[in-house]
Amino acid sequence: MPRGRATDVDKTGQYGKFRERRLKDPYIPFKGWKEPTVCPICSALYLKKRWQFNDNLLYDLKQKKEIFSHKCPACRKIEDNYPMGIIDISGKFVSEHRDELVNLIRSEERHAKEKNPLERIMKMEKKNGGIHVEVTCESLALRIARILKRAYKGEHEYSLSDGDKYITIVWRRD
Ligand SMILES: [Zn+2]
Repeated sequence: MPRGRATDVDKTGQYGKFRERRLKDPYIPFKGWKEPTVCPICSALYLKKRWQFNDNLLYDLKQKKEIFSHKCPACRKIEDNYPMGIIDISGKFVSEHRDELVNLIRSEERHAKEKNPLERIMKMEKKNGGIHVEVTCESLALRIARILKRAYKGEHEYSLSDGDKYITIVWRRD
């Protein structure tokens, strides 16, 4: 377990201080990227200061002008194995509702990715009878925690890792 600072832990299961994005993302350069840029791995397009999935627009742009190529932050984090959010799901409830939980988390990722292609699940696996999820963004971790709470209540605990590199969310229901 990463060491969370006492002030960052919210044992009441509320989001509290974690409502806002607070981790610095070392994969996002201050000046952004040249435009337009496409990611050679996932084909996300960087235009007007944001990444998006838009095949039609990408096709049109390719006809008209030079497109730069640069791996997007999500693909680089996956390559480097650099998650910014970890969710550990445990408790008796999990063994009885595993598929349901996995589907809910996957569908939440789909919704998140539509808006922001940088929000992705890097890993989801069975661990100690529970589910261990690693995601590319703090915001997606919070989003998944929110949907779990809305759907199944349960108990949450949040902490930031040493050095504030990633957020850890522990969700439990017996
Ligand atoms: Zn990419």
